[in-house]
Amino acid sequence: MTDPDSRTDNQATDGGQESLASNDLEGSDPTTEPLVDSSIDVGDSTGPSGDEGESRTVIGSRDLDVFYDDVQALQSVDIEIPAEQVTAIIGPSGCGKSTFLRCINRMNDLVDAARVDGELLFEGKNVYDDDVDPVVLRRKIGMVFQTPNPFPKSIYDNVTYGLDVQGVDGDYDEIVENALRRAALWDEVKDQLDSSGLDLSGGQQQRLCIARAIAPDPDVILMDEPASALDPVATSKIEDLIEDLAEEYTVIIVTHNMQQAARISDKTAVFLTGGELVEFDDTEKIFENPEHDRVEDYITGKFG
Ligand code: ADP
Repeated sequence: MTDPDSRTDNQATDGGQESLASNDLEGSDPTTEPLVDSSIDVGDSTGPSGDEGESRTVIGSRDLDVFYDDVQALQSVDIEIPAEQVTAIIGPSGCGKSTFLRCINRMNDLVDAARVDGELLFEGKNVYDDDVDPVVLRRKIGMVFQTPNPFPKSIYDNVTYGLDVQGVDGDYDEIVENALRRAALWDEVKDQLDSSGLDLSGGQQQRLCIARAIAPDPDVILMDEPASALDPVATSKIEDLIEDLAEEYTVIIVTHNMQQAARISDKTAVFLTGGELVEFDDTEKIFENPEHDRVEDYITGKFG
Protein backbone atom coordinates (compact mmCIF):
# COMPACT_ATOMS: atom_id res chain seq x y z
CA MET A 1 0.00 0.00 0.00
CA THR A 2 2.88 2.31 0.64
CA ASP A 3 4.38 3.57 -2.55
CA PRO A 4 8.14 3.40 -2.14
CA ASP A 5 8.55 6.23 -4.60
CA SER A 6 6.33 8.50 -2.60
CA ARG A 7 8.82 9.27 0.15
CA THR A 8 10.91 11.60 -1.92
CA ASP A 9 7.87 13.27 -3.38
CA ASN A 10 6.33 13.77 0.01
CA GLN A 11 9.44 15.56 1.08
CA ALA A 12 9.68 17.58 -2.07
CA THR A 13 10.01 21.30 -2.08
CA ASP A 14 8.14 24.32 -3.23
CA GLY A 15 10.98 26.76 -2.97
CA GLY A 16 9.51 28.22 0.19
CA GLN A 17 6.45 29.66 -1.56
CA GLU A 18 3.56 30.27 0.77
CA SER A 19 1.08 30.13 -2.09
CA LEU A 20 -0.51 26.72 -2.47
CA ALA A 21 -1.75 27.29 -5.97
CA SER A 22 0.16 27.55 -9.17
CA ASN A 23 -0.80 28.06 -12.78
CA ASP A 24 2.51 26.55 -13.71
CA LEU A 25 2.75 23.07 -12.32
CA GLU A 26 6.42 22.95 -13.28
CA GLY A 27 6.81 25.35 -10.38
CA SER A 28 8.75 28.14 -12.07
CA ASP A 29 6.26 30.92 -11.52
CA PRO A 30 3.67 30.23 -8.86
CA THR A 31 0.77 32.65 -8.80
CA THR A 32 -0.22 34.40 -5.66
CA GLU A 33 -3.61 32.74 -5.43
CA PRO A 34 -3.51 30.68 -2.26
CA LEU A 35 -5.20 27.31 -2.04
CA VAL A 36 -6.28 28.26 1.43
CA ASP A 37 -7.77 31.69 1.13
CA SER A 38 -9.18 33.21 4.28
CA SER A 39 -11.81 34.89 2.12
CA ILE A 40 -13.28 31.50 1.19
CA ASP A 41 -16.38 30.80 3.24
CA VAL A 42 -15.70 27.17 3.98
CA GLY A 43 -18.94 26.84 5.90
CA ASP A 44 -21.04 27.58 2.81
CA SER A 45 -19.55 24.86 0.75
CA THR A 46 -18.42 22.08 2.98
CA GLY A 47 -18.89 22.14 6.66
CA PRO A 48 -21.56 21.64 9.21
CA SER A 49 -20.25 24.87 10.65
CA GLY A 50 -23.73 26.14 11.39
CA ASP A 51 -24.18 23.44 14.01
CA GLU A 52 -23.21 24.56 17.48
CA GLY A 53 -20.48 22.42 18.89
CA GLU A 54 -19.60 20.80 15.56
CA SER A 55 -16.08 21.19 14.21
CA ARG A 56 -15.68 22.84 10.86
CA THR A 57 -14.88 20.66 7.88
CA VAL A 58 -11.28 20.64 6.69
CA ILE A 59 -11.32 17.82 4.16
CA GLY A 60 -14.37 17.01 2.07
CA SER A 61 -15.18 15.05 -1.03
CA ARG A 62 -18.05 15.25 -3.46
CA ASP A 63 -18.93 12.46 -5.83
CA LEU A 64 -15.34 11.25 -5.76
CA ASP A 65 -14.56 8.37 -8.10
CA VAL A 66 -11.13 6.82 -8.57
CA PHE A 67 -10.23 4.36 -11.30
CA TYR A 68 -7.04 2.40 -11.90
CA ASP A 69 -7.35 1.96 -15.67
CA ASP A 70 -10.84 0.47 -15.88
CA VAL A 71 -11.02 -0.86 -12.30
CA GLN A 72 -13.08 1.41 -10.07
CA ALA A 73 -11.50 1.76 -6.60
CA LEU A 74 -13.78 4.46 -5.14
CA GLN A 75 -17.43 5.12 -5.96
CA SER A 76 -19.13 8.48 -5.48
CA VAL A 77 -17.58 9.17 -2.11
CA ASP A 78 -19.12 12.11 -0.23
CA ILE A 79 -17.59 12.92 3.13
CA GLU A 80 -16.92 15.87 5.44
CA ILE A 81 -13.99 15.36 7.80
CA PRO A 82 -13.88 17.65 10.82
CA ALA A 83 -10.91 19.72 11.98
CA GLU A 84 -8.70 18.73 14.88
CA GLN A 85 -10.18 15.31 15.44
CA VAL A 86 -9.02 11.80 14.62
CA THR A 87 -10.94 10.23 11.75
CA ALA A 88 -10.38 6.52 11.19
CA ILE A 89 -10.93 4.87 7.83
CA ILE A 90 -11.73 1.18 8.13
CA GLY A 91 -12.93 -1.59 5.84
CA PRO A 92 -11.83 -4.87 4.32
CA SER A 93 -8.68 -5.16 2.26
CA GLY A 94 -9.01 -3.70 -1.22
CA CYS A 95 -12.04 -1.49 -0.42
CA GLY A 96 -10.16 1.71 -1.30
CA LYS A 97 -8.98 3.02 2.08
CA SER A 98 -5.45 3.84 0.94
CA THR A 99 -6.73 5.14 -2.37
CA PHE A 100 -8.94 7.63 -0.54
CA LEU A 101 -6.07 8.71 1.72
CA ARG A 102 -3.78 9.19 -1.28
CA CYS A 103 -6.38 11.39 -2.99
CA ILE A 104 -6.27 13.88 -0.15
CA ASN A 105 -2.71 15.04 -0.84
CA ARG A 106 -2.66 13.89 -4.45
CA MET A 107 -0.25 11.04 -3.94
CA ASN A 108 -2.30 9.20 -6.57
CA ASP A 109 -0.72 11.58 -9.09
CA LEU A 110 2.29 9.27 -8.84
CA VAL A 111 0.29 6.28 -10.07
CA ASP A 112 0.07 6.38 -13.86
CA ALA A 113 -3.05 4.23 -14.01
CA ALA A 114 -4.99 6.34 -11.51
CA ARG A 115 -7.77 8.68 -12.65
CA VAL A 116 -9.76 10.85 -10.25
CA ASP A 117 -13.24 12.30 -10.95
CA GLY A 118 -15.29 14.52 -8.67
CA GLU A 119 -13.97 16.86 -6.01
CA LEU A 120 -11.60 16.52 -3.09
CA LEU A 121 -11.84 19.70 -1.03
CA PHE A 122 -9.24 21.08 1.34
CA GLU A 123 -10.58 24.12 3.16
CA GLY A 124 -13.21 24.37 0.42
CA LYS A 125 -10.74 24.33 -2.49
CA ASN A 126 -10.68 21.38 -4.89
CA VAL A 127 -7.12 20.04 -4.70
CA TYR A 128 -7.51 18.70 -8.24
CA ASP A 129 -8.00 22.18 -9.70
CA ASP A 130 -5.38 23.00 -12.31
CA ASP A 131 -3.96 25.84 -10.24
CA VAL A 132 -3.08 23.71 -7.21
CA ASP A 133 0.56 22.82 -6.80
CA PRO A 134 0.66 19.30 -5.30
CA VAL A 135 4.05 19.93 -3.73
CA VAL A 136 2.74 22.90 -1.81
CA LEU A 137 -0.39 20.94 -0.93
CA ARG A 138 1.76 18.21 0.64
CA ARG A 139 3.37 20.74 2.97
CA LYS A 140 -0.09 21.47 4.34
CA ILE A 141 -1.13 17.82 4.32
CA GLY A 142 1.70 15.63 5.60
CA MET A 143 1.81 11.85 5.45
CA VAL A 144 3.17 9.01 7.55
CA PHE A 145 3.47 5.55 6.03
CA GLN A 146 3.04 1.99 7.22
CA THR A 147 6.72 1.19 7.41
CA PRO A 148 8.89 3.74 9.22
CA ASN A 149 11.07 5.31 6.53
CA PRO A 150 13.68 7.64 8.04
CA PHE A 151 16.42 8.79 5.70
CA PRO A 152 19.98 7.53 6.29
CA LYS A 153 20.79 10.84 7.96
CA SER A 154 21.05 12.17 11.50
CA ILE A 155 17.94 12.53 13.62
CA TYR A 156 18.30 16.31 13.32
CA ASP A 157 18.64 16.21 9.54
CA ASN A 158 15.66 13.89 9.21
CA VAL A 159 13.45 16.44 10.93
CA THR A 160 14.79 19.40 8.95
CA TYR A 161 14.95 17.59 5.63
CA GLY A 162 11.73 19.03 4.20
CA LEU A 163 12.53 22.52 5.46
CA ASP A 164 16.08 22.44 4.13
CA VAL A 165 15.19 21.60 0.59
CA GLN A 166 12.32 24.07 0.62
CA GLY A 167 14.64 26.83 1.78
CA VAL A 168 12.34 27.59 4.70
CA ASP A 169 13.76 30.21 7.05
CA GLY A 170 13.54 29.90 10.79
CA ASP A 171 15.32 28.73 13.88
CA TYR A 172 15.94 25.12 12.94
CA ASP A 173 17.06 24.14 16.45
CA GLU A 174 13.75 25.35 17.78
CA ILE A 175 11.74 23.70 15.00
CA VAL A 176 13.54 20.38 15.58
CA GLU A 177 12.96 20.50 19.31
CA ASN A 178 9.29 21.42 18.90
CA ALA A 179 8.66 18.74 16.28
CA LEU A 180 10.41 16.06 18.35
CA ARG A 181 8.51 17.14 21.46
CA ARG A 182 5.20 17.03 19.65
CA ALA A 183 6.13 13.58 18.36
CA ALA A 184 6.89 12.45 21.94
CA LEU A 185 10.50 11.63 21.01
CA TRP A 186 12.51 14.57 22.35
CA ASP A 187 13.31 13.15 25.77
CA GLU A 188 14.61 9.93 24.22
CA VAL A 189 16.86 11.53 21.58
CA LYS A 190 17.79 15.03 22.76
CA ASP A 191 21.36 13.94 23.55
CA GLN A 192 21.90 12.08 20.29
CA LEU A 193 20.53 14.39 17.61
CA ASP A 194 23.61 13.70 15.45
CA SER A 195 23.10 9.92 15.52
CA SER A 196 21.59 8.22 12.51
CA GLY A 197 17.81 7.98 12.41
CA LEU A 198 18.29 4.40 11.29
CA ASP A 199 19.81 3.46 14.68
CA LEU A 200 16.51 4.08 16.46
CA SER A 201 14.02 1.33 17.28
CA GLY A 202 11.08 0.79 14.92
CA GLY A 203 8.70 2.70 17.18
CA GLN A 204 11.16 5.57 17.58
CA GLN A 205 11.72 5.64 13.81
CA GLN A 206 7.98 5.99 13.28
CA ARG A 207 7.83 8.86 15.79
CA LEU A 208 10.79 10.44 13.96
CA CYS A 209 8.78 10.20 10.73
CA ILE A 210 5.88 11.86 12.52
CA ALA A 211 8.27 14.64 13.66
CA ARG A 212 9.41 15.02 10.04
CA ALA A 213 5.79 15.33 8.92
CA ILE A 214 5.07 17.91 11.64
CA ALA A 215 8.14 20.11 11.07
CA PRO A 216 6.69 22.09 8.10
CA ASP A 217 3.65 22.84 10.31
CA PRO A 218 0.93 21.10 8.30
CA ASP A 219 -2.81 21.34 8.98
CA VAL A 220 -3.60 17.71 8.28
CA ILE A 221 -1.62 14.53 8.95
CA LEU A 222 -2.51 11.42 6.96
CA MET A 223 -1.44 8.07 8.38
CA ASP A 224 -1.58 4.81 6.47
CA GLU A 225 -1.56 1.98 9.01
CA PRO A 226 1.21 3.73 10.98
CA ALA A 227 1.44 1.10 13.72
CA SER A 228 0.93 -2.11 11.81
CA ALA A 229 4.69 -2.83 11.61
CA LEU A 230 5.26 -2.14 15.32
CA ASP A 231 5.18 -4.23 18.51
CA PRO A 232 2.37 -3.69 21.05
CA VAL A 233 4.34 -1.28 23.28
CA ALA A 234 5.42 0.89 20.34
CA THR A 235 1.87 0.70 18.97
CA SER A 236 0.47 1.96 22.23
CA LYS A 237 2.85 4.94 22.21
CA ILE A 238 1.86 5.81 18.65
CA GLU A 239 -1.82 5.57 19.58
CA ASP A 240 -1.34 7.92 22.54
CA LEU A 241 0.58 10.28 20.30
CA ILE A 242 -2.15 10.29 17.64
CA GLU A 243 -4.73 11.33 20.22
CA ASP A 244 -2.44 14.15 21.39
CA LEU A 245 -1.76 15.31 17.83
CA ALA A 246 -5.48 15.81 17.26
CA GLU A 247 -5.37 18.72 19.69
CA GLU A 248 -3.50 20.66 17.03
CA TYR A 249 -3.93 18.81 13.76
CA THR A 250 -6.59 17.02 11.79
CA VAL A 251 -5.52 13.38 11.75
CA ILE A 252 -6.88 10.88 9.23
CA ILE A 253 -5.74 7.32 9.80
CA VAL A 254 -6.27 4.19 7.75
CA THR A 255 -6.25 1.12 9.94
CA HIS A 256 -7.18 -2.51 9.47
CA ASN A 257 -7.37 -2.80 13.25
CA MET A 258 -10.93 -2.12 14.40
CA GLN A 259 -9.98 -2.03 18.07
CA GLN A 260 -7.45 0.64 17.27
CA ALA A 261 -10.06 2.68 15.40
CA ALA A 262 -12.45 2.34 18.33
CA ARG A 263 -9.73 3.35 20.81
CA ILE A 264 -8.30 6.42 19.17
CA SER A 265 -10.75 7.95 16.71
CA ASP A 266 -13.55 10.45 17.10
CA LYS A 267 -15.12 9.68 13.73
CA THR A 268 -15.05 6.50 11.70
CA ALA A 269 -15.63 6.03 7.98
CA VAL A 270 -16.49 2.50 6.87
CA PHE A 271 -15.64 1.64 3.28
CA LEU A 272 -16.86 -1.68 1.93
CA THR A 273 -16.13 -3.73 -1.14
CA GLY A 274 -16.27 -1.81 -4.38
CA GLY A 275 -14.96 1.41 -2.88
CA GLU A 276 -18.26 2.53 -1.40
CA LEU A 277 -18.33 4.71 1.70
CA VAL A 278 -21.21 3.01 3.47
CA GLU A 279 -21.27 4.88 6.76
CA PHE A 280 -19.49 7.80 8.39
CA ASP A 281 -20.35 8.86 11.90
CA ASP A 282 -19.13 9.25 15.45
CA THR A 283 -16.92 6.28 16.28
CA GLU A 284 -19.12 5.30 19.21
CA LYS A 285 -22.19 5.16 16.96
CA ILE A 286 -20.41 3.13 14.30
CA PHE A 287 -19.21 0.55 16.80
CA GLU A 288 -22.29 0.42 19.03
CA ASN A 289 -25.25 1.11 16.81
CA PRO A 290 -24.45 1.42 13.10
CA GLU A 291 -27.22 2.33 10.66
CA HIS A 292 -26.39 -0.29 8.09
CA ASP A 293 -26.57 -4.06 8.50
CA ARG A 294 -23.54 -4.42 6.25
CA VAL A 295 -21.51 -2.24 8.61
CA GLU A 296 -22.69 -4.22 11.62
CA ASP A 297 -21.75 -7.46 9.85
CA TYR A 298 -18.30 -6.10 9.13
CA ILE A 299 -17.77 -4.74 12.65
CA THR A 300 -18.89 -7.96 14.25
CA GLY A 301 -16.62 -9.99 12.02
CA LYS A 302 -19.32 -11.70 9.93
CA PHE A 303 -17.30 -10.83 6.85
CA GLY A 304 -14.17 -9.01 5.79
P1 ADP B 1 -7.24 -0.83 0.74
O1 ADP B 1 -6.34 0.26 1.20
O2 ADP B 1 -8.63 -0.73 1.31
O3 ADP B 1 -6.67 -2.20 0.93
P2 ADP B 1 -6.56 0.11 -1.92
O4 ADP B 1 -6.93 1.53 -1.97
O5 ADP B 1 -5.13 -0.25 -1.72
O6 ADP B 1 -7.47 -0.65 -0.84
O7 ADP B 1 -7.05 -0.59 -3.27
C1 ADP B 1 -8.39 -0.42 -3.79
C2 ADP B 1 -8.47 -1.14 -5.15
O8 ADP B 1 -7.63 -0.47 -6.05
C3 ADP B 1 -8.01 -2.60 -5.13
O9 ADP B 1 -8.81 -3.30 -6.04
C4 ADP B 1 -6.58 -2.52 -5.59
O10 ADP B 1 -6.21 -3.72 -6.25
C5 ADP B 1 -6.65 -1.37 -6.59
N1 ADP B 1 -5.35 -0.66 -6.65
C6 ADP B 1 -4.76 0.00 -5.63
N2 ADP B 1 -3.60 0.56 -6.05
C7 ADP B 1 -3.47 0.24 -7.36
C8 ADP B 1 -2.49 0.54 -8.36
N3 ADP B 1 -1.39 1.25 -8.08
N4 ADP B 1 -2.68 0.06 -9.61
C9 ADP B 1 -3.80 -0.67 -9.90
N5 ADP B 1 -4.76 -0.97 -9.01
C10 ADP B 1 -4.60 -0.52 -7.75
